[in-house]
Amino acid sequence: MLDRILAKSLQGEVVSPEEIAFLFEFPLFSEESAKIIAASRRKSERASDGLAEVHAQVGLNIAPCPKNCAFCAFAAVNKVFERASELSVGEAVAAARQFELDGANAIYVMATADYPFAKYIELSQEIRSNLQPETVLVANVGDFDRKEAEQLRDAGYSGIYHAVRLGEGRVTSLSVEQRLRTLHNAREAGLIVGTCVEPVGSEHRIEELVEKTVISRECSPRFSGAARRIPIPGTELARHGIVSEARMAHILAVVRLAVGYDVPGNCTHEPNGIGAAAGANLLWAESGSNPRDTEEKTEQQRGMTVQDCASVFREGEWRVLQGPSRLYSK
Ligand code: SF4
Repeated sequence: MLDRILAKSLQGEVVSPEEIAFLFEFPLFSEESAKIIAASRRKSERASDGLAEVHAQVGLNIAPCPKNCAFCAFAAVNKVFERASELSVGEAVAAARQFELDGANAIYVMATADYPFAKYIELSQEIRSNLQPETVLVANVGDFDRKEAEQLRDAGYSGIYHAVRLGEGRVTSLSVEQRLRTLHNAREAGLIVGTCVEPVGSEHRIEELVEKTVISRECSPRFSGAARRIPIPGTELARHGIVSEARMAHILAVVRLAVGYDVPGNCTHEPNGIGAAAGANLLWAESGSNPRDTEEKTEQQRGMTVQDCASVFREGEWRVLQGPSRLYSK
């Protein structure tokens, strides 16, 4: 049965939820898991012409966020950052330009869910006007309506990063429907969507991994993938510990096989060699605020540079695309 599912996926046929669950169930380091990872790598290379991408995110602000996603350092309940702070326009522009100089294939601008939308658009226009016209910009913000999606597009964004997270509506105050509506609004406005099965914790059961994998496939993204939760010290979810990179490699491989060739990208975060070897062809560098970090400037703690990510890809035997992202190009 395993060989039949792998062949089906590699031929570009749709893998059913039951088959996805079957792939998730194999123990790590089994021969079957090795076969799944090998097939994932093959499919990723075919889907992306053997070219990996490094994207880079500028985190604009830190604020106790009322949406209270339990896994996020900005959640007000987690009391990590009790004082709000944000990059000045000059700092945000400088951070984006640095990533452009470093050769990032796309630059993301991230803000917490309650960051004023009009201000985000204004700042985005300033960033856009200071970058090369071909540099790809991606928005990573809270939920938005159709009109706001058009404003993002008109401000110069090629697409968005958005996800229905594991535990959505259970460990967050946002609903699955609201997250799906935002993804729909983005697509309707002509924005390209990138998503991911995240943030994976050790308590998540296979049924939920399957559910979120299918949701990610159905939102017609240009990349999917899998990322683990980084425990924020002192928070409720930290007691579950962290899923190993080895386990994440198996999970991201299954996600790769569950989505079709129309989804060329397979991401993982934080960047790691086992994940890249297993078929992840998209990694992120980060600067400024970071929902997985307790440090205000993540480049001083968890955030990796564009060069770090490129080096992970080299160790994972990937060639890195030079120039604007193909994942976010029409
Ligand atoms: S993940 Fe986003 S919406 Fe949730 S608490 Fe963090 S900033 Fe707010």
